[in-house]
Amino acid sequence: MASDAFPTRIAYAEALAIVSRVARGRRLPAEHIALARAHGRVLATDALARIAMPAFDNSAMDGFALRRADLLPGETLLALRGEQFAGGPAAPLVRAGECVRITTGAPLPDGSDTVVIKEHTRIEDGNVRVLQAPAAGSHVRHRGEDVRAGDLLAVVGEALSPARVALLAGQGIAGIDVARRPTVAVFSTGDELVEPGLPLAHGQVYDSNRELLMGLLRAEGLEPVAWPTLPDDPHAIESALRHAGEAFDLVLTCGGVSAGEKDHLPALLQRRGQVHFWKVRMRPGMPVLFADGGTLGPALFLALPGNPVSVLATWFALARPLLDGLQARAPRRAWRARLAAPWRKRHERLEFLRGRLASADDGTLLVEPDPADGSHRMRAAADADALIVLEEGERDYPQGSVVEVLPY
Ligand code: AMP
Ligand code: MG
Repeated sequence: MASDAFPTRIAYAEALAIVSRVARGRRLPAEHIALARAHGRVLATDALARIAMPAFDNSAMDGFALRRADLLPGETLLALRGEQFAGGPAAPLVRAGECVRITTGAPLPDGSDTVVIKEHTRIEDGNVRVLQAPAAGSHVRHRGEDVRAGDLLAVVGEALSPARVALLAGQGIAGIDVARRPTVAVFSTGDELVEPGLPLAHGQVYDSNRELLMGLLRAEGLEPVAWPTLPDDPHAIESALRHAGEAFDLVLTCGGVSAGEKDHLPALLQRRGQVHFWKVRMRPGMPVLFADGGTLGPALFLALPGNPVSVLATWFALARPLLDGLQARAPRRAWRARLAAPWRKRHERLEFLRGRLASADDGTLLVEPDPADGSHRMRAAADADALIVLEEGERDYPQGSVVEVLPY
């Protein structure tokens, strides 16, 4: 196989740039969906405020709306003119010496400017005695103090959090433009793989990567489809990938992408597809391959190595950025932490080391590197909660060094 036809053994930054470029050329179209289904989706059009919020001056408390100028230095007896409940009919105008019973969220009656809380009053023969005078304007929420009509409320590329969706619902927005969600097919390959629940024969291992990938994809709000595990048989692999390549935006495989006798994916994707890169100078995960499907179909193919921790690392390093790019999602926040222990990096490749995050008493974010750094050590990866990104090159990292972390 000629390896000079496509970039190979490239730097991680280069691989990421290729992934971003390809994704940019494959941006998924926007679709208009019900706001109720928009959680976690990537916004495709800026959302502007249609109305002010609050839409009208209203009470922040249950109590009585009054005119502050009416209150005497001590106690004051006011005539109770009526009531203004949230959602109820409009109360009468509040005139000098009067007040109106009011509930939280109810519009401030005309004429009034201040609310006294219930607890600071006493009812006397149908009148209201104000026992403690509130400051002028107390407990009034003013029209537009949170949002003014025309404000930019959510920006293109933003993944919609529950609070953002709630803000848009508060605007009366019922439908919204989001990027179409990428469809993803997940494949595990390997003659040794067995479904959990079945007995293990000599040399077999349970397929754990499928659950890893399905969980990671679902956590991104996607609805991936998993195939039964594929044997290391080039014909079986080709036929399954062809089906998926016609039907999905992304085909995510794991295993069979190195240079072993049973690693059929590189030859297949080079023969049938168009390889964007094969092998990235990262650890773990070096054999990762990225390709256009070519005659396998319009899908993109990202072939991850089989070692479970390699799957985890290549997911965060390349798969998630690819899915973000397809949806034109804005760059994610980069997190940094200080190493809680020194680390000696004794190899050249960029590393995604596992670590545990902790918050120091002074508020510093710390990360404890895990010396169990083998790419087969899924238990260590499960006990950790972040990938520590260590740049290319051998280096001694003293305790306290600032490193990039990818929490998971
Ligand atoms: P490969 O990339 O196919 O050479 O596989 C590398 C290592 O990962 C081997 O030890 C495989 O047994 C293991 N492996 C591959 N696929 C899976 C999987 N789906 N679940 C668990 N381990 C796997
Ligand atoms: Mg294999």
